[in-house]
Parts: sequence; C-alpha cells; structure tokens
Amino acid sequence: MLLVNPSSPNSPQSVLQRVFGYAAFRGAQAAIVDHIVDGGDALVLMPTGGGKSLCYQIPAIVRHGAGRGVALVISPLIALMHDQVGALEEAGVHAAFLNSTLSLDKAQRIEREMLSGRLVLLYVAPERLTAPRMLAQLDSLHARGLLSLFAIDEAHCVSQWGHDFRADYLALNVLHERYPGVPRVALTATADVLTRADIVERLDLGEARVFVSSFDRPNIRYAIAEKTDARHQLRAFIEEEHEGDAGIVYCQSRRKVEETAAWLGSEGVVALPYHAGLDAETRRRHQDRFLREDGVVMVATIAFGMGIDKPDVRFVAHLDLPKNIESYYQETGRAGRDGLPADAWMAYGLADVVNQRRMIDESPAAEEFKRAQRGKLDALLALAEAHDCRRARLLAYFGEEAGPCGAHQNACDNCRQPPVTWDATEAARKALSCIYRFHQNGGQRFGAGHLIDVLRGKTTEKVEQYGHAALSTFGVGAELGDQQWRAVVRQLVALGCIRAEGEFNTLELTSAAREVLRGEVNLQLRQQSVQAKRSTRGGKKGGGRKSRPPLPLDAAGLARFEALKAWRADVAREHNVPAYVVFHDATLAEMAQRMPTSLAALGEIAGVGVRKLEAYGHSILRLLND
Ligand code: ADP
Ligand code: ZN
Repeated sequence: MLLVNPSSPNSPQSVLQRVFGYAAFRGAQAAIVDHIVDGGDALVLMPTGGGKSLCYQIPAIVRHGAGRGVALVISPLIALMHDQVGALEEAGVHAAFLNSTLSLDKAQRIEREMLSGRLVLLYVAPERLTAPRMLAQLDSLHARGLLSLFAIDEAHCVSQWGHDFRADYLALNVLHERYPGVPRVALTATADVLTRADIVERLDLGEARVFVSSFDRPNIRYAIAEKTDARHQLRAFIEEEHEGDAGIVYCQSRRKVEETAAWLGSEGVVALPYHAGLDAETRRRHQDRFLREDGVVMVATIAFGMGIDKPDVRFVAHLDLPKNIESYYQETGRAGRDGLPADAWMAYGLADVVNQRRMIDESPAAEEFKRAQRGKLDALLALAEAHDCRRARLLAYFGEEAGPCGAHQNACDNCRQPPVTWDATEAARKALSCIYRFHQNGGQRFGAGHLIDVLRGKTTEKVEQYGHAALSTFGVGAELGDQQWRAVVRQLVALGCIRAEGEFNTLELTSAAREVLRGEVNLQLRQQSVQAKRSTRGGKKGGGRKSRPPLPLDAAGLARFEALKAWRADVAREHNVPAYVVFHDATLAEMAQRMPTSLAALGEIAGVGVRKLEAYGHSILRLLND
C-alpha cells in the first residue's frame, strides 16, 4: 500500500522540488526513497557526493507529512551535525541534533520537540541513541506510532575491517528487535565487499534491499605524477589549476604537515595544518575555517576527513602514498562532492615505495595480516605505475568493469596524455647486478643514491672510498639520467626484487630478483614526462583571491557572481552556518549567468527551494538588478 499518492504535494518528487529546489532524482535515489517511504529496510552503497542525504531526508519529510513522526539520524560526527541541521532549517525543514555540546536546557527543549512528534529529523550520536534515557523516549514515540525511520549514516563504522570502526555502532543492532516495523536505512561510501558483509550482519540487515551505485566519480580527474621536487610540484599544481580554491593536502607525518602548511603559507596560500598531535581546540578552529571560509587549503594527516561534507573541495593532493587503494579512493573522494570538476593529484617516488613497504615489514602484526597488506600496497603501486586508464583500474579494483575514461572532459592523466614508455629490462638487470657486485665486494650494502652514482660512472668520494670504480658495473648505465634510474629502482622495489633495509635504506636483493636478472621479466616504464617549464608568473599571491566560477561567465557575470558570494558570506555569518548551506557556488553562478528578473524565474534555478526563495528571493533580485 502506498503511503502517499504520487501526485500529492507530499510525494517524494514534489518534496524534492519544493524543499530542495532540484528537478529530478539522481540514479537510484528515486527507488531508494520509494522503498523507505513504503517502510522497507535498505542498505545504500553510494560514492561520496552521490546524494545519500536525500535518500533518508526525503523519506523523513514524506513520512512526517503522513503523520509518522520523527526520523532519527545516527551520525558519528558531532561537529557536522550542526551544519547538516543548519542546512535543513535553511530549507524550512524542522530538524535538530542532540549531542554533548548542548546545554541541559537546550537538550530538554529538543527532547520535548521530539516527544511531541513535531520534529522531522533528529541527529544523534550512536552512544546517545542507545543510552537508556533515549531508548525510553523512543519507546514512547514508537508506542504512539511516531517513530518514522532510522537512518544509520557512515554505516561502515560498524565494521572492524573498516578504517573508522566505532564500538558504539555495534549497539545499534538493538533497533531492529526493539522497534520492528520502523524502516532502517544504512548508508556508506565504502565500497569493499568485506565491509559490506559486515554491515549486513552486524546491523541485522539481512532482509534489507541493497542498492549499489557505481563508484565512479565522473567529475574527478585522477593524476599521479612522479615525485621530483614535491613541494614545488604542489605549488605549481595549486598555482596553475587551483588558485583560490579549497583543497586538502595529505601528508603522512605530523611534521611534514606542519612544514608543508607553513611553506604554503609563505607562498601566499591560505593553508592550515591538521593532525592528531594538535590540541582539540586548534583542530576545531582549523576545521571550522576550512568549512566556513572560501579557498582554505587544509594540510593534514589522515586524521582529517571522515565525514567532511564540504561540497566544494576542488582538489585533494597526496604528497605521500596512501596505504592502499581503499584509502586512496576514500581520501580523493572528498573532492568535488558538488559534482563540479575536481582534481585528485598525487606525487609519489622511490622513498614512498620504500617507506610503505617498510612500515608493513616492521609492523608487529601477524604474518598473514602483513601478507594481505602487501598485496593491497602492490595494487596501489600498480595503479601508480600504470600506463593505462587510472579510473578503469580503480573501478576494476572494486569489482566494477569500465572502459577507459578516454576523451571524457574529466579524463585521467593517462587518458588525456598517454605516457610514452621505454624498455627498462636491460637497465633493471644492470641495477640488480650492481647490487650483487657490492655484496660480493666486501658484503657492504648501499642506498639508491650511491647505486645510481656507480651505474652512471660518477667518481664521488664514496666511490673512491670503496673502490667502486673498479666494479664491472661502474658506468654501465651512463646513458640514462638520474630520474630514469630512480624510476628503475622504484619499480624494482615495487616489484619486490629489492628490499630497503635499516636506518639508511640500504638495498638488498630478494629471491624475486632472479627472474629479472635472467631477463625473464619484461619491464616497461613510463618515460619521465619532461617537466613543463613552470610559469614565471612568480610573485606572491594573496590579496584578492578569486576562485574560478563553475560556469563560464563574462566580466559582468563574474562581477555578479562575486557580489552574490559576498552577499552569501554575510548571510552565512548571520545564521552561523557555512556559506554552502545558504547556496552552493553552482547555484550562485547560474543566478549570475541567467540573471532572473522575477521570483518565478529565480525559483527555476537548481538549488532554490520554496523556503529559500521566500527568505532570500527579493534580496537576490535586488542585488542582480544593481
Ligand atoms: P553524499 O552524502 O552521498 O556524499 P550528499 O548527500 O552530500 O552526498 O549530496 C552531494 C551533493 O549533491 C549535495 O550538494 C546535494 O545537494 C546534491 N544532490 C543530491 N541529490 C541531488 C539531486 N537529485 N539533484 C541535484 N543535486 C543533488
Ligand atoms: Zn582514464
């Protein structure tokens, strides 16, 4: 039996238009919403930016409209509840959150709103939901038929396999037994099958319908560059592609985070550090600025990012290699939630490969676990060294078949400019036999730098000290440059033919080297792309930082866009919400381009719902008129 008539003003389609200002559902959204509105359980697997929020918000609004009371949204991040609720209230939906930041007085007021059934959505942390006080209140709601649904956001937190395990999530299985008949929807952007199975089991979702979307992020451009001078490569990337844009730069260590943020700052980029070693207050302040201000770059360890739903992050840059493809996908996935073009850029080099391998080797974990980790790292290295489509490889890793992204507007680096390769089989043999000679010649081990010097026939102090000019491999690789040799060594470490050991990362052959030495492995390497001459624009940036609008605009349009952004900043400050909660950049750009002259025309623009039209319509029309 249908809960609402599709043509009623309370149907999902009309709620989508009226409340959120969007014309049509995306992908599986419509099916998911219908299923939950009709009381079904669901597991929703959708990539970041796919539009998961509407999958429970619209059922909550529709069911509330049909007299079914309050929807409970379980979310692990207290910090973000405030903004999510702010966005709903801006759209005219009565929502609230309960967490430890509220005064007793405020919390009691919200509880009364909930118990009356007037509230449409209530956001709570898992530990709060399963506390005796809350369960007693939910019992009362349930007895009166006023518990409309449970949405379990970031549902992968229930899995020990995942990266964000939260013990509090395990207690959520109580919901099924205690409130039968209340639909539950679990949502996650985590794609791997183990986590998926865990969610179903631990949350008792065996009966739930599973909705799996494609995990492709068509608006993200993937690019992986060979590391030469990481800082300068990063600066050039930001300067050339992302001046004034919001972005995240991931580094592995706290120290590198601090140094990189300070350096970017000295280069005129507004950059803030974020890592677990900073005190809570500083982290909160930095996160707040990142969310609220335009064009802030967050330099962070992976301590930053879970549940960051800032829609206009225009790039995610990795200065160090992530642990595996799952992490790479998660971290890069924070770019471009708004669907506009965004970049996932990574620089990686020999040291990254060495470090990641060592971290696994030296970890105290069981051998079986280490083996699994090595396998995952290998998959990531293969992605980094790939000559073919990065996107297709990424999706294949998650079990999805896709052709190369080719001529697509946001195609990956390899599709945009297919790399030239060279045959490194012979070079690899030379490198390996040189390491072998070192060993024969006194059992000493050396690092990559010295190895390359010997291969290139350079007479350094060290070469003289050890008499390495006398080795048969001295100078056998003079025809190759330093970069090429580093690529060869990196590839050999990636393939596991060489292991780096000890404090100085000295190189040692493994049994896997034998096949390469015998010439049985054919090694094709990417030609080191000629470093594009960096722009000589020079000078410090700063001052009038302007990001590019998401639509092509002429000079007058651009001026209108900037004026709208200034207006939005005022409103956001007044309402104590991030700017994107008021309107997204794309919505402002469309206003600037189409220049509507009536409320009706303004209401046609995507992202302008009835409530926002009422609240802001006149100010916007006036502003566009000037
Ligand atoms: P997720 O939680 O899956 O990462 P969100 O729910 O934050 O994604 O949605 C991502 C963006 O897409 C948001 O800005 C949202 O407003 C927008 N969006 C979602 N569904 C639609 C739709 N049907 N039409 C237009 N925009 C949409
Ligand atoms: Zn591609």
